[in-house]
Amino acid sequence: MPTLAQAKDGLRLEAVPLRQIAEQYGTPTYVYSRAALEAAYRSYTDALAGRDSLVCFAVKANSNLAVLDVFARLGAGFDIVSGGEMARVLAAGGRADRIVFSGVGKTVAELRDALVAGIRCFNVESPTEIDRLNEVAGSLGKRAPIALRVNPNVDPKTHPYISTGLRDNKFGVAFADALALYRRAAALPNLHVSGIACHIGSQLLDGAPVTEAAEKVLGLVRQLESEGIHLEHIDLGGGLGIRYANEVPPKVADYLAPLLACFAGRKEQLCFEPGRSLVGNAGLLLTRVEFLKHGETKNFAIVDAAMNDLARPALYDAYHDMVAVAPGTDTPEQVYEIVGPICESGDFLGHDRKLAIAAGDLLAIQSAGAYGMVMSSNYNTRPRAAEVMVDGDQVHLVRARETVQSLFAGESRLP
Ligand SMILES: *Cc1c(COP(=O)(O)O)cnc(C)c1O
Repeated sequence: MPTLAQAKDGLRLEAVPLRQIAEQYGTPTYVYSRAALEAAYRSYTDALAGRDSLVCFAVKANSNLAVLDVFARLGAGFDIVSGGEMARVLAAGGRADRIVFSGVGKTVAELRDALVAGIRCFNVESPTEIDRLNEVAGSLGKRAPIALRVNPNVDPKTHPYISTGLRDNKFGVAFADALALYRRAAALPNLHVSGIACHIGSQLLDGAPVTEAAEKVLGLVRQLESEGIHLEHIDLGGGLGIRYANEVPPKVADYLAPLLACFAGRKEQLCFEPGRSLVGNAGLLLTRVEFLKHGETKNFAIVDAAMNDLARPALYDAYHDMVAVAPGTDTPEQVYEIVGPICESGDFLGHDRKLAIAAGDLLAIQSAGAYGMVMSSNYNTRPRAAEVMVDGDQVHLVRARETVQSLFAGESRLP
């Protein structure tokens, strides 16, 4: 969990009281800790010290420019899944030659823009994408660096919606087809075969499936080598889980150790694409209790954040821990359903939470730095939350709260 400290004025993130953030910027507000982001990134680079490697932050987990900026300053690469994410990385000061582009549906325009920008690698996910990329690169007089994203068909033992490496899903190319596709790609004039990629799923709490995938990848790398196709990098994707409740994910170094061992003595650069494990526990969603409502069988705490701000509970039945920013000393602890104001029964943020809260109190919804703000919407014409970055005793507003007017600025009445 992020480093929340108890002080006289309630919880603080780094040296900043959460209450001060709520007063200054309102609620709901996403709050990130620069120190926690940096520590998470360093846990990767420390474990990879001495190995030619690149940590590419999976931008889709949190694409705020300030978050990208923190990683760019540390020398990170970036894993993107759209032209929009590439624009964000470049605007945040990230280097194009450290961008890898994943995704099953890259458009011609996205491929062209990425080629012009000079990204490091296209992680190609289908035979037709090979042809499309070869064509686009040819039209620009360029050679596109590619890796095939292979589907090693190992079970990541995670939620089915976030499992991506099994045979029957839309990601990557079948392992059995990979060799033939490499031969084909290597023969095309406008492609440069640069690497291999795999990513088997998300919120992995056991490193064994990734190690199993890595061993399969190594077998393929050796086969390619024997045919004269020499790769420059091996990308083992992201997926390492974090602690939301009482999960015990492996430490980054322990997760990486068997992977480093697998490729020991090989000269290819090792790449990783962590998202959640870099940002998830570096952020929280600060919300205020609007009403307490005592029903016949349940008590509800209606807060000013909702499923449009944090979709994971409604979407995956995900658990986010919650703490009162300043638990009342004479408020009794009660068990609450934590719900938002949206007109959907699925609009909940937590079930059965024991909290000592009164109307007007602040709650910190933990582990909200990954797949939080990026999945938010304007459902119910709710302006999206502000985002702030705490840095020591400083707070920086890194995304202003939306205004209602901005939500329909692109709309018009009939002529
Ligand atoms: C989502 C995704 C990631 C990041 O996954 P996390 O579980 O957040 O680490 C990395 N690579 C690819 C291709 C992805 O789709």
